[in-house]
Amino acid sequence: MMNKPEYALGQLKNGNQRFLNARSEILPTLRANVLKELADEQNPLAVILGCSDSRVPPEIVFDQGLGTLFVVRVAGNLADRTQIGSIEFAVQEFNCPLVVVLGHSQCGAIKAAFNQLKNPVNVSKSVSFLLESIRPTVEKLQSSFNGINDEGAIADAVRLNVQSSVDRLLVNSPILATKCETGELKVVGAEYLLESGAVEFLED
Ligand SMILES: [Zn+2]
Repeated sequence: MMNKPEYALGQLKNGNQRFLNARSEILPTLRANVLKELADEQNPLAVILGCSDSRVPPEIVFDQGLGTLFVVRVAGNLADRTQIGSIEFAVQEFNCPLVVVLGHSQCGAIKAAFNQLKNPVNVSKSVSFLLESIRPTVEKLQSSFNGINDEGAIADAVRLNVQSSVDRLLVNSPILATKCETGELKVVGAEYLLESGAVEFLED
């Protein structure tokens, strides 16, 4: 039961509901005996590939305590090699049944990638590498983009970028793809709405 994708998904949905209702249950896990148990082993419920944005900490928005989420965060929630390696590690080592790619509204990385298409500016090599990873997604929406305040195009790009990371995980990781085929694992996309605090799962 505990290692079923549907169970893990339900726990995250319930957690986001507690967060929305300001009924957090995180604090009870900060007890000495819990810390001691966790020091010996972890058994995380889900892997989250999220954005580094300071407003989207997965543990808080899903109301999960220590030891529950294995979190990979990078600006734009991109699935490049080190991220895929981290996710494969967690899925194999801890038998995590769920991977959530968590994008969010108003993502600065998406906005920057759009801007870089329209009005390229000099950025460092490393920032350029990051923005290039998002470029294929924003290029698809380029014709409908009307500048940095174009909320519709940015919202579309956020979701497309989440889907692109989901696809990249499955295409570039035979381990994850095989586990999805057997039903041991689910890889789902989700969007966190900064404005409301709600997480919308894209497949619902
Ligand atoms: Zn972001």
